[in-house]
Amino acid sequence: MSESELQQLAIDLGQQKYRGRQLHDLLYKTKAKEYQDFKNLPQAFRDNLKEAGWRVGRSAIHRSVTAADGTVKILIKLEDNRLVETVGIPVEDDKGSFRLTACVSSQVGCPLRCSFCATGKGGFARNLKRHEIVEQVLAIEELFKHRVTNVVFMGMGEPMLNLKSVLGAHKCLNKDVQIGQRMMTISTVGVPNTMKMLASHKLQSTLAVSLHAPNQKLRESIVPSAKSYPLEALIEDCQDYFLETGRRVTFEYTLLGTFEYTLLAGINDGKEQALELAELLHGCGRGYHVNLIPYNPVEGSEYRRPYKKAVLAFAESLESRRITVSVRQTRGLDASAACGQLRNDFQKTPLKESSTSESQPIPA
Ligand code: SF4
Repeated sequence: MSESELQQLAIDLGQQKYRGRQLHDLLYKTKAKEYQDFKNLPQAFRDNLKEAGWRVGRSAIHRSVTAADGTVKILIKLEDNRLVETVGIPVEDDKGSFRLTACVSSQVGCPLRCSFCATGKGGFARNLKRHEIVEQVLAIEELFKHRVTNVVFMGMGEPMLNLKSVLGAHKCLNKDVQIGQRMMTISTVGVPNTMKMLASHKLQSTLAVSLHAPNQKLRESIVPSAKSYPLEALIEDCQDYFLETGRRVTFEYTLLGTFEYTLLAGINDGKEQALELAELLHGCGRGYHVNLIPYNPVEGSEYRRPYKKAVLAFAESLESRRITVSVRQTRGLDASAACGQLRNDFQKTPLKESSTSESQPIPA
């Protein structure tokens, strides 16, 4: 809850407004997780909070795995026993400065079923609430005993299908947990009519759009939901987002290749696709950047991770066409690192869609 919400809560429970501020400090500065830690609040206020059903604390960490490179993936057990994944990625650069990125989930599962994604294969249950997104970041801070410096909404789920909670969590992480807006990235595979909505909030955060293919036909085969969102319309919406917010749009392009070179051509990491992608991006002006993500293999997937050589050649082809590119290092490959993989290891039965209205995607 925000400071103003906590102040209102204090007033509603017959306290003075400043008690809400004290509560805010206890939750976000002292990181109090139990009522007994609220020592500087009057007993009557504490009792009233409890009686009114307000709860503090965190969901339990069901499981955590640590990769050799220090990446930690945790499974958080929510109050309805659903499991969601969160990843903490520590990075120390050459100058010795330390970054801790939290990759957070926005839904339990995902209804979009991208063909390469373990989360998509596991089904969809419900949207996460604002606090269920925020507590993922706090859990990573507690685990690493260090402030989270960057947040990426790239875990389980499609953030644009849960925009209300994602925007609420973004605001809380910025104002209450004190993470700069520029240190946060919202990732989407593209959901019709949502980019304009996001742009209207004029966030100073990067929008990362997962393209995965340079043309509509290939994209539809990798991202089935793209059928209702033609590539030209998506690119147009990216241009509008850039104009409205002045923020760079980053394109994510997962390289779905195979160890057998002869099989690469049919998917998406060939030189032709790189050139086609460059062509597509040239059509939309400036302000774009491509992140290449070598595919993280998941059990039961027909896709394979491309050779490093193929990744570099793809990057070079883009650069030769003056497209700025970075190749994302795949972190924690030995820790069931592909999104949704760890959750699927512990929840073998695919999730069933919940019937609550809250879980309904925003219509196209
Ligand atoms: S890649 Fe993202 S949008 Fe696609 S199924 Fe996985 S979680 Fe959902």
